[in-house]
Amino acid sequence: MLVSGRQILNHAHENGYAVGAFNVNNMEQVQAIIEAAEETKSPVIIQASQGGLKYAGVEYIAAMAKVAAEKASVPVAIHLDHGTDFKQIMACLRNGFTSVMIDGSHYELEENIRKTKQIVEMAHAVGVSVEAELGKIGGVEDDISVDEKDATYTDPDEAERFVKETGVDYLAIAVGTAHGPYKGEPKLDFDRIKVIKERLNMPLVLHGSSGVPEESIKKAVSLGINKINIDTDIRMAFHKAVKAFVADNPDVYDPRKIVGPARIAMKEVIAEKMKMFGAAGKAWK
Ligand SMILES: [Zn+2]
Repeated sequence: MLVSGRQILNHAHENGYAVGAFNVNNMEQVQAIIEAAEETKSPVIIQASQGGLKYAGVEYIAAMAKVAAEKASVPVAIHLDHGTDFKQIMACLRNGFTSVMIDGSHYELEENIRKTKQIVEMAHAVGVSVEAELGKIGGVEDDISVDEKDATYTDPDEAERFVKETGVDYLAIAVGTAHGPYKGEPKLDFDRIKVIKERLNMPLVLHGSSGVPEESIKKAVSLGINKINIDTDIRMAFHKAVKAFVADNPDVYDPRKIVGPARIAMKEVIAEKMKMFGAAGKAWK
């Protein structure tokens, strides 16, 4: 069942849980996500970054995700992660994505508002929901890199103004997580999540959530996070399974045998996250 990002995230906002948003680059990842969602009866977001779309092609990703959504017994939204390129965002709208992110976080506030508002007007005209980002999330995600010293937390006053002026549907906030693997344990600013949630009363998004301890994730969800992005943990599950298979079976050259175990490993990691986020059992008909 293909739905808009808004439908999925408003349901999560109203019912106090978070939907997992998992990044895909290939068919096995799409299938792992849908299998996990059906097994745990979770609403889910399949998302692709601009790097993922460059790798697979926007038409291929959209087609795979749409087939998966239409066949699935659970609600599925298809989302562009960290859109920065106007043309790429338009291509996603045209290819049937039901949600897009415009990441103007590297611009000054006024320019971020201007760019976000433009995308919101176009996306809403065709029924597509929009995520934006305020504050700067540290770390490296594909071609987007923010040095640790340049990462800045989201300001609640700015967030209120940003949402009012742009009309964005959900907001990614910077509260101490970072993209990519963590060196130490990430420290989340829970008070900030609480204040922003009270001020905005709308779905909030947490990026860089791979490797964040379970208690921190659960607390963040209880304070109002409704979309949690996971990429690195899926990649690591993939890598571990492929590496183990190839080490044990150096002469097997059938791609299905090499990548098949990785699909199962990814599904297991994803299903665990769905339970952790409180999404399991929340799928509606
Ligand atoms: Zn991100």
